[in-house]
Amino acid sequence: MEYRKIGKSGLRVSEIALGNWITHGAQVDDTTAKACVHAALDSGITTFDTADVYSETMAETVLGHSLKGIRRESIELCTKVFHPTGTGQNDKGLSRKHIMEACHASLRRLQTDYVDVYYAHRFDPTVSLEETFLALSDLVRQGKVLYVGVSEWTADQIKQGADLARELKVPFVASQPQYSMLWRIIEAEVIPACEQEGIGQVVWSPLAQGILSGKYAVDKPLPEGSRASTTAGSPFFERLAGQWLRKEVLQAVEQIRPIAQENGLTLPQLAVAWVLQNPQVSSAIIGASKPEQVKENVKAAGVRLEGEVMRQIDSILNGVVDRDPNKTG
Ligand code: NDP
Repeated sequence: MEYRKIGKSGLRVSEIALGNWITHGAQVDDTTAKACVHAALDSGITTFDTADVYSETMAETVLGHSLKGIRRESIELCTKVFHPTGTGQNDKGLSRKHIMEACHASLRRLQTDYVDVYYAHRFDPTVSLEETFLALSDLVRQGKVLYVGVSEWTADQIKQGADLARELKVPFVASQPQYSMLWRIIEAEVIPACEQEGIGQVVWSPLAQGILSGKYAVDKPLPEGSRASTTAGSPFFERLAGQWLRKEVLQAVEQIRPIAQENGLTLPQLAVAWVLQNPQVSSAIIGASKPEQVKENVKAAGVRLEGEVMRQIDSILNGVVDRDPNKTG
């Protein structure tokens, strides 16, 4: 494993992190979840990503159990607030009330006294940014949150947040957007804005939810146990299928396979290595339904891809890459 600083902060993270959306507390049993977490730790991953909303709060609980006994200082534990965690009118969003209550609930479920990076999971247009950043600032002063991040905010929203963070002396250091060979919408606006503010990218779905593993094939049934087959009928599946389970995307991905092989990599490793070529990326958050996937994908750490390899990938994927910054969020 290699380690990078998030933006201009002093916080070091593993360049590959493990996240537990869809998996822990839902798709995989707790024993498998723990095995994935321990495969990550054994591979040098120190950074773990979750959110209060994942699996209706169960993902945090499972991660807390899986990390029991691990020295707290040896890992970076990151979670998020925004999406509803209950039916009450204040059980969502970025109001002071919900941020404070959500943070305390996350700390209980994760069995820890503090989180390393606390993300505003989406922008909340119904609450003033002052209220949100003042609440985050208080959590920082209380030592319950060490650093602050945002997820899927536009460049303008990030700039406004950064201005307030400066004023309130809040360590706003991370942006958590979706980024992969297929989804490059942050390149035009979010990355330049963050670079100017010293904010690093901790990117999600580097494998485009498994599409870039090459296991989904045109005209073949969905692989048994895969994310696409296990989420079938849910909104998660609609999003995955709508974005990428299309002939032209799957055929383009298949054409990348020889490039991976020529570079001594598997397709999943090439996909993770690709996002890590961007110096503004501090960490790539992978997901895994099996410990073997963690063991395979972490081998992307430290891989350097030549400019010619990046150009070959671009020319193959050109017609299926999304670059529209208006799709943020
Ligand atoms: P990936 O793009 O890495 O997809 C992970 C999935 O791909 C796995 O669960 C597995 O699914 C499949 N896979 C992984 N490795 C392999 C392999 N070697 N061979 C075959 N299949 C493989 O990331 P995720 O979409 O899971 O997102 C990662 C993390 O990012 C989340 O856990 C979460 O922490 C964060 N995230 C943040 C969001 C935000 O709004 N801030 C939104 C979404 C995610 P399977 O085996 O089931 O097919």
